[in-house]
Amino acid sequence: HGLGARVTVVNGGDGEGPRRQAAELEALGITVRLGDDRTLPEGTELVVTTPGFKPGSPLFEAAGRAGVPVWGDVELAWRLRGPDSPPWLAVTGTNGKTTTVQMLASILRAAGLRTAAVGNIGVSLIDVVLEQEPYDGLDVLAVELSSYQLHWAPSLRPHSAVVLNLAPDHLDWHGSMEAYAADKGRIYEGNQVACVYNADESPSQAGAGPRTEDLVRAADVAEGARAIGFTLGAPAPSQLGVVEGVLVDRAFVPNRHQQAQELAETGDIHPAAPHNIANALAAAALARAFGVPATAVRDGLRAFTPDAHRITHVADTGGIAWVDDSKATNTHAAEASLAAYDPIVWIAGGLAKGAAFDELVAASAPRLRGAVLMGADRHLIREALARHAPDVPVTDLERTDTGAMAEAVRAAKSLARPGDTVLLAPACASMDMFVNYNARGDAFAEAVRALASAEGHSE
Ligand code: ADP
Repeated sequence: HGLGARVTVVNGGDGEGPRRQAAELEALGITVRLGDDRTLPEGTELVVTTPGFKPGSPLFEAAGRAGVPVWGDVELAWRLRGPDSPPWLAVTGTNGKTTTVQMLASILRAAGLRTAAVGNIGVSLIDVVLEQEPYDGLDVLAVELSSYQLHWAPSLRPHSAVVLNLAPDHLDWHGSMEAYAADKGRIYEGNQVACVYNADESPSQAGAGPRTEDLVRAADVAEGARAIGFTLGAPAPSQLGVVEGVLVDRAFVPNRHQQAQELAETGDIHPAAPHNIANALAAAALARAFGVPATAVRDGLRAFTPDAHRITHVADTGGIAWVDDSKATNTHAAEASLAAYDPIVWIAGGLAKGAAFDELVAASAPRLRGAVLMGADRHLIREALARHAPDVPVTDLERTDTGAMAEAVRAAKSLARPGDTVLLAPACASMDMFVNYNARGDAFAEAVRALASAEGHSE
């Protein structure tokens, strides 16, 4: 509308919220149609969609019949870019996206570049490409992209990109693991310099879906663009990896005579959990593809602090460490944080979104001192624990109210021994009990602090 297009906003709802939003839009001179999100408005030349609409929605079918293109916000942003617009270093994956774009932005800044972490992280790419303050005069963008955004971004051509990992998530939207992976894989299409993939995924098995490396091979990239792997082990040529606690680059080496470039130490990464070292390697690979020197990788990683509720150390009480990973909202994320501690009292539960817990529980069982369960789908976790960890004591709070968190903390305390970590890694969404994962993590931290001060421990 601001650029002179004639805009009709379509919303299937017609309740109070949509009506209030409609009033705001209409005051700007925008047409709004409530209560019908199926029919294409007369004369439509372009549909710009949001993740609220699934592929195959009737509106898209109507657009298809009329020969009208459908774009997401990322496609629109890509097409609105000016000729001198900064290049995109793009990040997607099931878990670790936000952390990785923030690490990447920190590294780019340490190299003296003007940059911002944008996209799915909560910054509209449209504002960024229109160079609205503070997004004017940037040298390069660290862009987080979701699978939804990639689905509707056919002409996106990043400078370089990474798919961090692939695990089942959002399958209700995409329809299948293959469709989900294919949408993630679009991030590699037309890459100019580097397609960064996770070299630690196990070989493709029937039914397991493609690996990130398979997505690189399937992509149509610019001539000269390279496939670059990252691994927690020793790197092969064209990979970044870890040798004796040092992050090593064997992909972007200064000359033919030097085989490897040391970048940073794992101790420079906060927290230095394995999954987070993987995120750091991915961020480093994208930065190196953009020509950033090794010292900036180290300085940028040192300067980086993760957002709240992502493996955040809350307090120590009597030798017990309390850790908030409320952002572990799916099983893949929870498995990563459970792998970082031993022994663990695990606080879990919430909305499972159709997930199965067997793999997660089987992998983590040897490290579990005990488990405390709450939330709507806790029985799924309880059953998986009974199957794979029958000796682990489980406290099922049988509660789905917000106040359950304080009881969970008390129950965890009575299961834990000195040297243990109590880890909130719910493996579930929070909306059955809390407004969002932030509120869930805050409730945990508050309960832990109350316990600590009652016991006279400092944080
Ligand atoms: P996203 O933006 O993809 O949701 P975040 O960076 O916000 O990812 O991290 C979300 C959670 O996912 C973290 O709290 C952690 O539990 C887990 N996580 C982060 N990085 C990884 C990774 N590389 N592999 C698996 N799990 C991860």
